[in-house]
Amino acid sequence: MATRLGGEKTPVSLAAAPARLEYELTAYQDLLLRRATEFRDQRTVTVDSWDDFAAAVATGWARAFHCGGTECEDDIKAATAATPRVIPADGEPEEGTCIRCGRPSAYGKRLVFGRAY
Ligand SMILES: [Zn+2]
Repeated sequence: MATRLGGEKTPVSLAAAPARLEYELTAYQDLLLRRATEFRDQRTVTVDSWDDFAAAVATGWARAFHCGGTECEDDIKAATAATPRVIPADGEPEEGTCIRCGRPSAYGKRLVFGRAY
Protein backbone atom coordinates (compact mmCIF):
# COMPACT_ATOMS: atom_id res chain seq x y z
CA MET A 1 0.00 0.00 0.00
CA ALA A 2 1.32 3.47 -0.83
CA THR A 3 -0.06 6.99 -0.84
CA ARG A 4 0.34 9.49 -3.64
CA LEU A 5 1.99 11.81 -1.12
CA GLY A 6 5.34 10.43 -0.14
CA GLY A 7 4.76 7.15 -1.92
CA GLU A 8 6.37 5.03 0.79
CA LYS A 9 5.18 1.46 0.35
CA THR A 10 3.83 -0.58 3.27
CA PRO A 11 3.05 -4.28 2.99
CA VAL A 12 -0.52 -5.15 4.01
CA SER A 13 -1.91 -8.67 4.22
CA LEU A 14 -4.86 -9.43 2.02
CA ALA A 15 -6.96 -10.27 5.08
CA ALA A 16 -6.23 -6.90 6.69
CA ALA A 17 -6.55 -4.90 3.46
CA PRO A 18 -10.27 -3.96 3.59
CA ALA A 19 -10.16 -2.53 7.10
CA ARG A 20 -6.75 -0.95 6.57
CA LEU A 21 -7.80 0.59 3.28
CA GLU A 22 -10.91 2.11 4.84
CA TYR A 23 -8.80 3.60 7.64
CA GLU A 24 -6.11 4.92 5.27
CA LEU A 25 -8.63 6.45 2.85
CA THR A 26 -10.37 8.31 5.69
CA ALA A 27 -7.04 9.56 7.02
CA TYR A 28 -5.92 10.56 3.52
CA GLN A 29 -9.17 12.44 2.87
CA ASP A 30 -8.73 14.31 6.17
CA LEU A 31 -5.14 15.20 5.23
CA LEU A 32 -6.11 16.47 1.76
CA LEU A 33 -8.97 18.54 3.18
CA ARG A 34 -6.72 20.03 5.87
CA ARG A 35 -4.04 20.93 3.32
CA ALA A 36 -6.55 22.47 0.90
CA THR A 37 -8.27 24.45 3.68
CA GLU A 38 -4.92 25.74 4.93
CA PHE A 39 -3.86 26.67 1.38
CA ARG A 40 -7.13 28.54 0.80
CA ASP A 41 -7.13 30.30 4.17
CA GLN A 42 -3.51 31.44 3.83
CA ARG A 43 -4.24 32.94 0.41
CA THR A 44 -7.60 34.62 1.07
CA VAL A 45 -7.45 38.29 1.99
CA THR A 46 -10.16 40.78 2.95
CA VAL A 47 -9.60 43.90 0.85
CA ASP A 48 -11.07 47.39 0.57
CA SER A 49 -8.95 48.92 -2.19
CA TRP A 50 -8.50 48.08 -5.85
CA ASP A 51 -4.72 47.76 -5.52
CA ASP A 52 -5.06 45.30 -2.64
CA PHE A 53 -7.72 43.42 -4.60
CA ALA A 54 -5.49 43.07 -7.68
CA ALA A 55 -2.57 41.91 -5.53
CA ALA A 56 -4.72 39.38 -3.67
CA VAL A 57 -6.22 37.73 -6.75
CA ALA A 58 -2.80 37.56 -8.39
CA THR A 59 -1.79 34.90 -5.85
CA GLY A 60 -5.05 33.72 -4.30
CA TRP A 61 -8.48 35.01 -3.40
CA ALA A 62 -9.97 38.29 -2.26
CA ARG A 63 -13.01 38.91 -0.04
CA ALA A 64 -14.54 42.10 -1.40
CA PHE A 65 -17.80 43.92 -1.95
CA HIS A 66 -19.37 43.94 -5.38
CA CYS A 67 -22.21 45.94 -6.90
CA GLY A 68 -23.67 42.93 -8.71
CA GLY A 69 -23.34 44.62 -12.11
CA THR A 70 -22.45 42.37 -15.04
CA GLU A 71 -20.45 45.12 -16.78
CA CYS A 72 -18.49 45.77 -13.59
CA GLU A 73 -17.84 42.04 -13.23
CA ASP A 74 -16.61 41.92 -16.84
CA ASP A 75 -14.36 44.92 -16.17
CA ILE A 76 -12.83 43.19 -13.13
CA LYS A 77 -12.27 40.04 -15.18
CA ALA A 78 -10.63 42.00 -18.01
CA ALA A 79 -8.30 43.77 -15.57
CA THR A 80 -7.36 40.83 -13.33
CA ALA A 81 -8.80 37.59 -14.79
CA ALA A 82 -10.70 37.25 -11.50
CA THR A 83 -14.41 36.59 -11.18
CA PRO A 84 -16.71 36.12 -8.20
CA ARG A 85 -16.25 32.51 -7.14
CA VAL A 86 -18.72 32.32 -4.26
CA ILE A 87 -21.10 34.31 -2.11
CA PRO A 88 -20.27 32.70 1.23
CA ALA A 89 -23.41 31.32 2.88
CA ASP A 90 -21.81 31.95 6.26
CA GLY A 91 -20.38 35.36 5.27
CA GLU A 92 -20.72 38.12 7.84
CA PRO A 93 -23.56 40.53 7.04
CA GLU A 94 -21.72 43.69 6.07
CA GLU A 95 -22.37 46.71 3.88
CA GLY A 96 -19.77 48.42 1.73
CA THR A 97 -19.01 49.71 -1.72
CA CYS A 98 -17.98 47.82 -4.83
CA ILE A 99 -14.25 47.15 -5.03
CA ARG A 100 -14.21 48.29 -8.67
CA CYS A 101 -16.89 50.92 -9.31
CA GLY A 102 -17.75 52.22 -5.84
CA ARG A 103 -21.50 51.61 -6.07
CA PRO A 104 -23.21 50.03 -3.02
CA SER A 105 -22.74 46.31 -2.46
CA ALA A 106 -25.60 44.24 -3.87
CA TYR A 107 -25.16 41.29 -1.54
CA GLY A 108 -24.98 42.57 2.03
CA LYS A 109 -21.73 40.66 2.45
CA ARG A 110 -18.36 40.23 0.78
CA LEU A 111 -17.94 37.88 -2.17
CA VAL A 112 -14.87 35.77 -2.74
CA PHE A 113 -13.09 36.55 -6.01
CA GLY A 114 -10.45 34.43 -7.64
CA ARG A 115 -9.01 33.59 -11.02
CA ALA A 116 -10.29 30.56 -12.89
CA TYR A 117 -7.70 28.06 -13.95
ZN1 LIG B 1 -19.12 47.45 -9.30
